Amino acid sequence: KPGPAITVIVQKGPGRLGAERLAGAGNREAASDKRPRRKWEVFRTATAFYCGGSLMLAGHGGFALTLLLILTTTVLFFVFDCPFLARQLTLAIPIIAAILFFFVMSCLLQTSFTDPGILPRATVCEAAALEKQIDNTGSSTYRPPPRTQEVMINGQMVKLKYCFTCKMFRPPRTSHCSVCDNCVERFDHHCPWVGNCVGRRNYRFFYAFILSLSFLTAFIFACVVTHLTLRSQGSNFLSTLKETPLTVLELVICFFSIWSILGLSGFHTYLVASNLTTNEDIKGSWSSKRGGEASVNPYSHKSVITNCCAVLCGPLPPSLIDRRGFVQPDTLLPSPIRSDEPACGAKADANMVGGHP
Ligand SMILES: [Zn+2]
Ligand SMILES: [Zn+2]
Repeated sequence: KPGPAITVIVQKGPGRLGAERLAGAGNREAASDKRPRRKWEVFRTATAFYCGGSLMLAGHGGFALTLLLILTTTVLFFVFDCPFLARQLTLAIPIIAAILFFFVMSCLLQTSFTDPGILPRATVCEAAALEKQIDNTGSSTYRPPPRTQEVMINGQMVKLKYCFTCKMFRPPRTSHCSVCDNCVERFDHHCPWVGNCVGRRNYRFFYAFILSLSFLTAFIFACVVTHLTLRSQGSNFLSTLKETPLTVLELVICFFSIWSILGLSGFHTYLVASNLTTNEDIKGSWSSKRGGEASVNPYSHKSVITNCCAVLCGPLPPSLIDRRGFVQPDTLLPSPIRSDEPACGAKADANMVGGHP
């Protein structure tokens, strides 16, 4: 299905977007050593790359903790509850738990290791050309010139801010993540639990992850309660708890995590149904109270089913950072630090791309 129509009506400077002109940091070193370098090796970000750039992860601590919690709970469940429940009730219990567990794990790994929709930073030439254009449009008495663009999206005026780190105008719904230090398309939030940003390219995996984790946690919780109840029949409940300390540990982990996971699933279901991001919801971007005038979410398709389809089943755009690609020897550093870079000359214009819809 086609997305919302976007028409650019005012443009004070060129936006930029494109995979092929990613960062060519360290071109001088590259020139001295002949080995061709992959783009992930020179990519300026807080993100770590593994397996030759195939996998990326922005934070290890939270991801490891999530993995540990899920693995511990599930392994304890399979070792201490499943044999009893399968004998007493049905073999379907371990089978359902195993299916849910594999689904949860695959969604978690997809969310954590997928590029959330990072926009490559402007190269030196692109940044210089954009800077020149901004200077030309601003009057000499007003400095610095207003670094905003305005675009019309479904009849709603949307302001695009300039990103001083990435040296470009952020496309609609893009935000700069302070943890990953990248501009991320359709930025939802940075999730420390999955160790990655949640954005345009991994939101559906994130949503499937929290939804399936809710089911897994609720399922294990119900099974553990059933296990303890069946065991304590005809004996003291407290002595049953003492006999099965690890089952009690599962019960505690599930009891404390289930509320937050269910709450998060409910909140994201609301966001999916209204085609909102967490970022927009927190900022109240489309709330009618803001600025006095009524504003509606221009990205909403006005139907819950269409919104769900658009957010969860829409086409996945390709990754723009092309991290496995090779650095071209003539590309220049996207450095925001150094201003004495070599002049770009005519190449600058060739590198620019038009405004981003
Ligand atoms: Zn940025
Ligand atoms: Zn992030």
